[in-house]
Amino acid sequence: GFSRYSTATALEEEPIKPAVQVEHTQLLIGGKFVDALSGKTFPTLDPRTGEVIAHVAEGHSEDVDRAVAAARKAFDQGPWPKMTAYERQRILLRAADLLEKHNDELAALETWDNGKPYEQSAQIEIPMLVRLFRYYAGWADKIHGMTVPADGQYHVQTLHEPIGVAGQIIPWNFPLLMFAWKVGPALACGNTIVLKTAEQTPLSALYAAKLFHEAGLPEGVLNVVSGFGPTAGAALASHMDVDKLAFTGSTDTGKVVLELAARSNLKPVTLELGGKSPFIVCEDADVDQAVELAHFALFFNQGQCCCAGSRTYVHERVYDEFVEKAKARALKRIVGDPFKSGIEQGPQIDSEQFEKILKYIRSGVQSGATLETGGDRLGSKGFYVQPTVFSNVEDGMLIAKEEIFGPVQSILKFKDLDEVIERANNTRYGLAAGVFTKNIDTANTLTRALRVGTVWVNCFDTFDAAIPFGGYKMSGQGREKGEYSLKNYLQVKAVVTPLKNPAWL
Ligand code: NAD
Repeated sequence: GFSRYSTATALEEEPIKPAVQVEHTQLLIGGKFVDALSGKTFPTLDPRTGEVIAHVAEGHSEDVDRAVAAARKAFDQGPWPKMTAYERQRILLRAADLLEKHNDELAALETWDNGKPYEQSAQIEIPMLVRLFRYYAGWADKIHGMTVPADGQYHVQTLHEPIGVAGQIIPWNFPLLMFAWKVGPALACGNTIVLKTAEQTPLSALYAAKLFHEAGLPEGVLNVVSGFGPTAGAALASHMDVDKLAFTGSTDTGKVVLELAARSNLKPVTLELGGKSPFIVCEDADVDQAVELAHFALFFNQGQCCCAGSRTYVHERVYDEFVEKAKARALKRIVGDPFKSGIEQGPQIDSEQFEKILKYIRSGVQSGATLETGGDRLGSKGFYVQPTVFSNVEDGMLIAKEEIFGPVQSILKFKDLDEVIERANNTRYGLAAGVFTKNIDTANTLTRALRVGTVWVNCFDTFDAAIPFGGYKMSGQGREKGEYSLKNYLQVKAVVTPLKNPAWL
């Protein structure tokens, strides 16, 4: 690789032209691409330069109404919930095949709109998406209720039925993976969908949804509305004809959509929200390995992960060595045009997040943390931020309390397990944690004591389709992925019939 400084120079070069055309910029409603009723569009920007990639139809409440009506019709009258599970499974499997076939186009759109390294999109994220749809296709014909013992002369069975029209609101940090986590289980259970993409990244979901129709998904089953949160998003969350809402994004917006859902028709809501996840490096750790994993836990995806290991707690016995090596690792991080091979870090999503990150960095310096490396923008255009490491961070500092959502590592020192458990749990969040140790007793103690939805022991960001993911406390409600996610999209109906012949009770 090259040093950060030669990368900065490379950032002044012309950005690499993505090997894909933007084909779909309209809303996908009832199986057809249509303009917004208002005729309005909004620009989606290339995070490498801030320049416009395309103008995309801007959905408002009247477009959400149309999309919900299409989804309602497809659920109430259409074939989807009434199809055999085997037929639904075959459509999901065909869609997965098409997504796999178009891996490179999907990856290029994702990187162009989001800024994440192309190799990450093409080699990790799109294959994960394909795997996830195959996983949920596998569930489609294995969803069933129970027979239940009941007092008296009754036969009691439960039916697991789809809920109906699912409203789904997704963020910009993993546009296609969030599409998959939401759409996969909802379709497997026989629901219909209106999905609102994030305004920063509308392109890839439109392409993916088109492939579902090519795979034979009936019209109206999966509708995609591009648009903004307070307009299209709020209209979906408060819609009387939406039976279930799934949201991923910030904790503040999560509160808003929960309230909108409650004030309208009390639709059940699943929330996947923010985090301030601890990554705990114990005294027995191999420091080189711990540095590498902690670096990945924070810097992956430009630091734009809800579960980023954004509080690196290091035992005092290995602290100084860790800080020195963490700084050296950040200095070696390869930042540049995400379409270039070997790039580890691209630009942040947009100017708003970019400015917010730089503000947090200034706050870290002002509050007395030691800026070991980084701290500024990289290059003169786009939204690139230097890989930044702070040491001597204290729990009370803003950079240790709030979600930065950028490439900024905060390293804190601890003395013993009881202390680090108390400090790691002392947050309103509870999404994930990393534990790095060779000692099984330490690992067992920490995995039980940490109040979080996922503990990664000697690994991080492992996102297999079968592993449930979600938050404790203000990091969310409910679980996505795995078998657990099916619960979000099923109703339970009890069917009770009298048994007329007591001889056979
Ligand atoms: P956000 O929560 O505002 O946006 C997420 C989604 O919600 C988007 O689709 C957005 O359009 C929609 N939305 C916004 N306001 C809405 C409303 N009133 N009603 C309905 N939908 C609405 O997040 P953001 O503004 O993109 O980012 C802000 C911060 O959120 C980030 O800095 C980061 O800390 C956090 N974030 C977390 C995740 C995550 O995966 N948990 C993802 C993205 C951002």
